[in-house]
Amino acid sequence: AKKVLIIGAGGVGQVVTHKCAQAPEVFGEIILASRTEEKCRRIAAQINRPIRTARVNADNVSELVTLISREKPDLVINVALPYQDLPIMDACLETKTNYLDTANYEPKDTAKFEYKWQWAYHEKFAERGIMALLGSGFDPGVTNVFTAYLAKHYFDEITELDIVDVNGGNHGQAFATNFNPEINIREVTAPCRHWESDSFVETPAMSENRSFTCPEDVGTYSIYRMYHEELESLVKHYPSLKKAQFWMSFSENYLKHLEVLQNVGMTRIDPVLYNGMEIVPLQFLKAVLPEPSSLGPLTQGRTCIGNIVTGKKNGKEKRTYIYNICDHQDAYREVGSQAISYTTGVPAMIGAKMMLTQTWMKPGVWNMEQFDPDPFMADLNQYGLPWKIQDPAELG
Ligand code: NDP
Repeated sequence: AKKVLIIGAGGVGQVVTHKCAQAPEVFGEIILASRTEEKCRRIAAQINRPIRTARVNADNVSELVTLISREKPDLVINVALPYQDLPIMDACLETKTNYLDTANYEPKDTAKFEYKWQWAYHEKFAERGIMALLGSGFDPGVTNVFTAYLAKHYFDEITELDIVDVNGGNHGQAFATNFNPEINIREVTAPCRHWESDSFVETPAMSENRSFTCPEDVGTYSIYRMYHEELESLVKHYPSLKKAQFWMSFSENYLKHLEVLQNVGMTRIDPVLYNGMEIVPLQFLKAVLPEPSSLGPLTQGRTCIGNIVTGKKNGKEKRTYIYNICDHQDAYREVGSQAISYTTGVPAMIGAKMMLTQTWMKPGVWNMEQFDPDPFMADLNQYGLPWKIQDPAELG
């Protein structure tokens, strides 16, 4: 069994720690480190296996190198924030340690979601003989593997992709975000980009929407087109894609609050002077919003995330829908977090398992769809995120 170092003790960190602890045959030893060690201890106390904790500022490469050199893990699972991706990758390079994350790097001062910074590490990782697996959450993550699985087994060529992320949950709060509010609001207020005939087309945020009816009575929701990072790697690795779009459901209430917050300047990410001190309005907003982890016991309903893929099989056009439905309360009962953290943390654990068992292991920096999807898909069924494929004949 192997040793893993998890960095980040938020909603996702809690789920990854629980799920790794459930598979002792793979994860023999688990260390949980974060900026606030108290949060690591709180998570460790929920688990009936010894989990050691540590304090680390993951913006600081030398602090990371000290921790990793001392612990010598086989893999670092980064579930801190996207800003920490590059310092953690640098520390992994220096200590020759494998790396996994769930969100691509973005600089603090511009909400720009791009893989270019991390892809630039490919040669360096390959030379050191270590691997980085990027975006092993649900979206990105499972949505990439869903695409690879359909492309492998259901199509000769895929031409259109729609990723649809519906959260049919309700937490009863006036306004709250399901994961880190700063990252969430940066993402939804950024201009939309979708792939169409060989390039990304930019449109205003939230300017395109439609209605989507989920299977299994999850309900009908308004979904809004937005940019999401897996589009960049998927159109690169599936050049036959002529159109690729990402859609997410938002309630009218969420959008109303967001509009007001935007109009009054509270979502700005540039610093403003307040009482002689520089503050970033969005970071201040995060401080007054409910912590996503506090939503666990409150959230009811289900998430439904999946891919609609169009393509050709035996010369004929066809369309297939693959999805997972996850119940907020079931997730809370199992690991003490709602479904958004659960659907991210479980694939992070599975990605880690793929690497540590040498199922997915090659030096370099890779996206999820670059590996054989089959073993990952089997583990989704085994570890709490079962998926289904809808018969094309049933699609409206
Ligand atoms: P949270 O805000 O709940 O947790 C983030 C954790 O990282 C906190 O424990 C925080 O510490 C810690 N952290 C932040 N900065 C540092 C630092 N400099 N050094 C050490 N630790 C630090 O976020 P989530 O758990 O909701 O999200 C975690 C990651 O997962 C994010 O990158 C997010 O984008 C990604 N994500 C991916 C999804 C997917 O499907 N692919 C979906 C949802 C999230 P502290 O407690 O001290 O603030």
